[in-house]
Amino acid sequence: MTDRFRAILIRKESDAQKAELTELGLEDLMESDVVVAVSHSTVNYKDGLALTGRVPVVRRFPMIPGIDLAGVVEDSASTAFKPGDRVLINGFGLSETHYGGYAQVARVKSDWLVPIPESFSPADTMAIGTAGYTAMLSVLALEDAGLTPAKGPVLVTGASGGVGSVAIALLAKLGFHVIASTGRLSEEPYLKSLGAAEIIPREELSGEPKPLGKERWAGAVDSVGSKTLANVVASTRYGGAVAACGLAQGMDLPLSVAPFILRGVSLLGIESVHMNRARRLQAWARLARDLDREKLASMSRTIGLADVFEAANDILAGGVRGRLVVDLSR
Ligand code: NDP
Repeated sequence: MTDRFRAILIRKESDAQKAELTELGLEDLMESDVVVAVSHSTVNYKDGLALTGRVPVVRRFPMIPGIDLAGVVEDSASTAFKPGDRVLINGFGLSETHYGGYAQVARVKSDWLVPIPESFSPADTMAIGTAGYTAMLSVLALEDAGLTPAKGPVLVTGASGGVGSVAIALLAKLGFHVIASTGRLSEEPYLKSLGAAEIIPREELSGEPKPLGKERWAGAVDSVGSKTLANVVASTRYGGAVAACGLAQGMDLPLSVAPFILRGVSLLGIESVHMNRARRLQAWARLARDLDREKLASMSRTIGLADVFEAANDILAGGVRGRLVVDLSR
């Protein structure tokens, strides 16, 4: 490992934040017990928010953004990890209060590290990233609520995005009839290649919600929120469940209680950043078992560290298909 390494640093200058590619040394990193040589990171929707400053994700300055990282342990003061171990982190305040994944070296807490499952490369785990890990958490929550393929179809909103793409691939592998809702109907061949059985236009769900709609699906993974989530819940079958994990349309939720008290529908909140260790390990083990590697490769594209700025704008504009991997050596 070299003493100097490349990193993106966000500084605050007279109330505006400024992100730039720079060079740092080990002495610049925050205190913690494990040093990781970071080989890969990724660009999630939240990374777009952090890099552009559109929403105050970063809560201390300066900050190295990047909510995910993967690499190899270089140095460890923890007995839980040793040099050479392959590790990843999703969330845990990276890019918010602790330096994140957009640097070739990270000094992080051992409690946050998850061993990379044997069948994945570090790049694979970042093709999954927080978006894919959240898709898996959503599927686990639906399973816990009793959803099975026999209960009926499952809807995925924001289908061409990161959470959506991984959710489709996982649910199709598990035998579900997957309905994909997208604003990009031109992506129909892509969504079908991931395993979607039916495609519906985003507009069907994004308008003014009714208290109850026709019963259409037994479950859903929603990364869109707002009116879309309200319509999704209103059209969920008796006894069904909806995992709410995102806000691509908005933070509001103009919903009536009718689906809950008349149809016994459950709304399941999904939070990935502070999820407990046991559930993280379960999610990564299930990703290793249930995520088709060819589909993972087909939904991801690799970029270099300097490309992250443009990617941040693209993802906020809803223009990224699937997942982006950041190769820190580029
Ligand atoms: P992406 O940008 O990759 O995917 C979001 C998708 O939503 C887009 O691709 C698009 O899909 C759709 N979309 C975009 N804008 C709108 C709109 N105005 N109305 C309706 N649909 C829209 O982001 P990610 O997959 O990385 O994240 C998705 C959401 O999940 C984000 O809100 C993110 O913050 C949240 N999230 C939450 C986590 C948690 O812990 N709860 C963890 C990870 C993500 P299409 O073109 O197919 O319609």
